Amino acid sequence: MILVRPRPIFNESARGYVLRVSEQNGLETPRWLLSYLGEKDIALKGYAALERILKNPEHGFEGLRGPVANLAQLNAPDLGNLPIRYWNTRRPRFCPCCLAESPHWRASWDLVFMVACDKHGHQLNDQCPQCQKPLSWDRSHITTCACGFDLREAATESAPEFAMQLAREIELRLQPEALPQAKVFNLWHRLDLEMLLKLVWFLGAYSRNAHRKPQKIVGLETKLVAGAMVEQAMAILNNWPAGFHRLLEEIAARQAPTLSSNKIGAKFGWFYGALYKSFPGPELEFLRLGFEDYLREHWTGQLARRNRRLSADLRSEHEWISIAEAAKMLKMRVETVGRFLEEGVLEGELHVTKSGRRMSAIRLDSLNALLSRKQDWVTLKDARALLGISRKRAYALLEQGVLKPISGPSVDGQTLWRFQRQEVLAIGAGGEF
Ligand SMILES: [Zn+2]
Ligand SMILES: [Zn+2]
Repeated sequence: MILVRPRPIFNESARGYVLRVSEQNGLETPRWLLSYLGEKDIALKGYAALERILKNPEHGFEGLRGPVANLAQLNAPDLGNLPIRYWNTRRPRFCPCCLAESPHWRASWDLVFMVACDKHGHQLNDQCPQCQKPLSWDRSHITTCACGFDLREAATESAPEFAMQLAREIELRLQPEALPQAKVFNLWHRLDLEMLLKLVWFLGAYSRNAHRKPQKIVGLETKLVAGAMVEQAMAILNNWPAGFHRLLEEIAARQAPTLSSNKIGAKFGWFYGALYKSFPGPELEFLRLGFEDYLREHWTGQLARRNRRLSADLRSEHEWISIAEAAKMLKMRVETVGRFLEEGVLEGELHVTKSGRRMSAIRLDSLNALLSRKQDWVTLKDARALLGISRKRAYALLEQGVLKPISGPSVDGQTLWRFQRQEVLAIGAGGEF
């Protein structure tokens, strides 16, 4: 019979609490707790099962955080509803100094991206310094490794700033109603714990070239891999947007340099979809704006640079320029060039991002073709002279759609009408007027 029924401590690890219950009742490992469940308790799961084992303690389980995993019937989700993927259930980490202050397991240590103690400035340990084995939950005492080593005696190493920074942000979000009091303004100050961890995961995974399976990071339970992801994500967030743009450059560069990958979707692959699908909230607007800024500033340049790897012949056919550059060369408004692109007068790619921004790249060869055609453009006065017609007749032809302007008041708001000389001459030759 279970005699000792400890009260949960605020923000105590649920898995750690189960170990504490097992330890205080003299059990060898928490697995022995399962033997206190009878046949009639077979349907009980999670906290209901734990409640039965503890004979309905009056204190309940409030204050516990994190899932209970690998304990059969006692497995339970996080009471704070943070999905299990953000919890490290396999390999416990700890701060020796915190353990020395109070022998209970902190829930924050169980988070995958928690690699430091912000209170003591130490890296968390996830290995026993005596037996050199990863720490395990299958042990008898909170403060002791299965080999008998007192974890409070473990040597400490000071934590790097990026690890401390994220640890502070996490601890802040584990406090009740702590966020409104956050004094430091930064990009992520409005993100709740789940969104913050999701963002670190996203940036860290893509930095590690894990874009094929960004949801599955091998070795994430180790301090080494988790720490590397935190380092990369924090470097990007602390150097916004330049750091993010560097990541985008890397992602774009990883794609095979084929012409078909000129489309944004192909170039950025899953990253692009994930960016808009996984982070829809207004608090992550900065992420999408950062991406769109990058496209505007670097996209055409990037394509041009990459295309330099192609032969000179191919390059001249496939060089791209931005819509603003094209407008300058054509001495036209950007809107007009955009319309040319939509109508097929110019070839290129028109891309409207999901937040409604327009981004275009224009093929240089189609621009050159338009420039030479443009030399052949004539004004209304020239057209009249070519056809030998009156002003009134010319306007009638315009209205009837026989004279088709390429530019002008009704087309793109330009003051002067422009016509293709060849088309005007064709009208004259056909005697259509
Ligand atoms: Zn500590
Ligand atoms: Zn050990």
